[in-house]
Amino acid sequence: MTLKIVFSDFDGTLTLENRQLTSTFFDILSHLREHEQELVIVSGRSLSWGHFFLTHFNELNYAIMEGGGVILKRGKGGFIEEYPLVAEGELQHLADTTEELKRIFPNCPLSVDSYGRKTDRAIEFELMQDEEINQVIQFLNSRKISYSKSNVHINFWSGEISKFLGVKKFLEDFRPDVAMEHSVFFGDAPNDQSMFELFEHSVGVSNIKHCLHRLTHKPSIILEGEENAGPFGVLNYVKKFNLSHSN
Ligand SMILES: [Mg+2]
Repeated sequence: MTLKIVFSDFDGTLTLENRQLTSTFFDILSHLREHEQELVIVSGRSLSWGHFFLTHFNELNYAIMEGGGVILKRGKGGFIEEYPLVAEGELQHLADTTEELKRIFPNCPLSVDSYGRKTDRAIEFELMQDEEINQVIQFLNSRKISYSKSNVHINFWSGEISKFLGVKKFLEDFRPDVAMEHSVFFGDAPNDQSMFELFEHSVGVSNIKHCLHRLTHKPSIILEGEENAGPFGVLNYVKKFNLSHSN
């Protein structure tokens, strides 16, 4: 079995838990390039972050952003193409509900990158009390808005969006040559659960231990030890996997 695509969450998985991007990220890119394997970031961060990834890291040709709501592709001439995966009506409902949220909860801190988002919005929950978080979540439920908590944000959206649906659509539409079993997913938080549940080969980097008790669906493999935190775990696992499957 060989790996063709490495899907990975970004925050806490390709960066350290304190959001630091280290040289290990570039070691991962080099290692995958040498093995003709592709990295596709699957992140809850905004569309505009996806533009940043594809603009600055030549090894990346695609990114799946906003928790699976939109696929970005490096197109002809380096121009970046966007493929939103939710219907226009859902985007409108999200926009209307966000306005209502801002009116009812004027102190609810929407993330600054909410302006660069298309298929979801995000709340900086670290700045809120538990009671306020609960009230906001009740409001979202009452408007049939879905949400998920990453290690940096509460993301919310209208329609069916998940990292798994984003990855599935990506494989069908952009890489039908790659079977799901020739890929792996790395993650570290509750917003990676759809992948842990439905993707065959999923790996939790060791810092996932902090939230394992909150997960309904756990990754098929859980790395352990400080040496396997975030990007270190991704690099160690991929190297070991490639070595043991090199014949
Ligand atoms: Mg994460």
